[in-house]
Amino acid sequence: MFSYRHAFHAGNHADVLKHFVTIQLLQYLNQKDVAYTYIDTHSGAGVYELDGAFATKSGESETGIGSLWNLNEMPAPIQEYVALIKAMNPSGKMRYYPGSPYIAEQVAREQDRIRLFELHPADAKLLADNFRKLEEHAAAQGVRPTVRGKRVLVTRSDGFASLKALLPPPSRRALVLIDPPYEDKQDYKKTKDALEDALKRFPTGTYAVWYPLLSRPESRLFADKLKTLPASSWLNVVLTTRKPTPDGFGLHSSGMFILNPPYTLEPMLKQVMPWLVKALAKDSGARFTLETGTQASSARNSGER
Ligand code: SAM
Repeated sequence: MFSYRHAFHAGNHADVLKHFVTIQLLQYLNQKDVAYTYIDTHSGAGVYELDGAFATKSGESETGIGSLWNLNEMPAPIQEYVALIKAMNPSGKMRYYPGSPYIAEQVAREQDRIRLFELHPADAKLLADNFRKLEEHAAAQGVRPTVRGKRVLVTRSDGFASLKALLPPPSRRALVLIDPPYEDKQDYKKTKDALEDALKRFPTGTYAVWYPLLSRPESRLFADKLKTLPASSWLNVVLTTRKPTPDGFGLHSSGMFILNPPYTLEPMLKQVMPWLVKALAKDSGARFTLETGTQASSARNSGER
């Protein structure tokens, strides 16, 4: 059950897609003063060492964030993402990579709430330790004191189950990131079920789901199933960096499926994705797809009334 460790994959092309989109979603929420809640149901360890044993064994970051590190010109949304990672690496050497909890902590404001869930005992401890260090650092510097107190809560628990108690959030504004390992194929169903329940409790929230594109049927059919959920609109963006290998080994494509996306997301992705495909391409199979829909169009397409 606990075989997955995100440290092997930190900073790969899938993290690039997930994290630059997450920053954009948070920045959209930042446009209004009213506080929001960021909920990360599957948080991981929060920060990763790219020169640590896990990351160097896989080498995955080299063809993800590593491909962007030395570029000078890039679209603004990618620039913002790369700048956040460079800020955690003041020596200029690419050593640390932020997970989604750290990214959210950096982008969200004083008044916003960050709720983090992680089930793996080792990663839950690392996550809590990383946030404790951040808090101590903030206290020592006298800056960003809001890390303390109730702004960030880290809980070792099942993110799917824990989500229920947080919805709807007090201010009726929230971004929920659901990013399970999917090594257990039940994660596909659990994600869809969790979204179904969440939309009943809080229909207007923004929900972002990361998913891998693998040959197993649960993965291939996943996005189409999410399109039938009763959100008023959805957006599905898939990044492919190479052709699949004959043995099917490794991750060549992943997607971000957003329920109730901000209206700014689609035009931004139309501009940025062609550039990102070129920057991360490993062969001529590299491409992206971008689809959007509304509840009405999904019901029509699936034959529902
Ligand atoms: N969201 C993180 C990021 O972007 O930096 C990466 C998360 S990683 C893909 C998935 C994490 O979910 C793993 O750390 C795994 O231990 C954890 N996990 C697996 N099942 C879980 C569950 N039911 N509830 C909470 N965490 C879970």
